[in-house]
Amino acid sequence: MSSFVVALDVGGTSMKGGLVTRSGEILRTDRRTTPRDRGPAAVIATIRSFIDDLAAAGGGTPEGVGLAVPGLVTAEAALYSANIGWRDIPATDLVPLDVPVMLGHDVRTGGLAESVLGAGRELSDFLFLPIGTGIAGATILHGEPYGGSAGWGGEIGHIPVFPEGEPCACGQIGCLETYASASAVARRYSTRATAALGSPASSLALPSSGTSPVAVSATAEQVAALTASGDPLATEIWGEAVEALSLALATYTLLLDPSAIVLGGGLAEAGTLLSDPLAERLRQRLAFRQAPPLRQAALGVSAGMLGAALLGWRAAGLPDAGTTWSLDVLKSPRVA
Ligand SMILES: [Zn+2]
Repeated sequence: MSSFVVALDVGGTSMKGGLVTRSGEILRTDRRTTPRDRGPAAVIATIRSFIDDLAAAGGGTPEGVGLAVPGLVTAEAALYSANIGWRDIPATDLVPLDVPVMLGHDVRTGGLAESVLGAGRELSDFLFLPIGTGIAGATILHGEPYGGSAGWGGEIGHIPVFPEGEPCACGQIGCLETYASASAVARRYSTRATAALGSPASSLALPSSGTSPVAVSATAEQVAALTASGDPLATEIWGEAVEALSLALATYTLLLDPSAIVLGGGLAEAGTLLSDPLAERLRQRLAFRQAPPLRQAALGVSAGMLGAALLGWRAAGLPDAGTTWSLDVLKSPRVA
């Protein structure tokens, strides 16, 4: 039996776990529901039993455990998560085994995986930008994610892009996330389309939802498809998301001079529908320097689990874990 680490990516709705060997072979992946509605103690108990079950499936004691968790995190403790509701949880409380353990912030751990194994493999400095329900960023400096002085770094989703704009759930006004997250695109289209239903000039391509005769409920994927087909309202909402992103990325580029921007998350699955106009707007905004190229993330939803595996091996005393791994293992159907 080859030696392995247990890797866990703890999200607000589900947890992805894996067993990864020293050479990067993925022996097993699995998934559990995060029982967030039953409180932080239930989440911790689920994490512990998930780790126990994965270790048992590996047929031996893991060399280490790596965990990617949301919120404010150090390598030794999960300090705070509004999402899960925990405070000051030592890493050792999350792991039922007496083995080395390392924690990482969820997005930064995904960024570490993209840096070592994925789209940033040969890059030193880049931004990893997953655009999903929210928008967060992992600033990669010299190949490593940088979380700032206290761990609050990377909150690019809450950069104010339209200071006179719409309120954000965070309490600020005009945040990037309010315009350009996948949920914002869906919400903004649905709100405007619903309002247009009352207008006699309405010519909506999307029918109203079944649950209410007077409300449109579109997903970001539907807004993307409508944009691709030339629907005027979808095109406008999509264009505003691109505009907001171009403002935030111009700021990031001028401040940190990244060699690339790696787009991930649900909205990036729109591919060139997002990246082509965004690259163009970013190029137009920057006058005296070249815009960094935009790239598609390589590891998809497995980035967090793979980054956690790197942390697990680092905890076990292999600081260069991943640098010699074959990329073939990452194409395994287990990872997809
Ligand atoms: Zn905000």
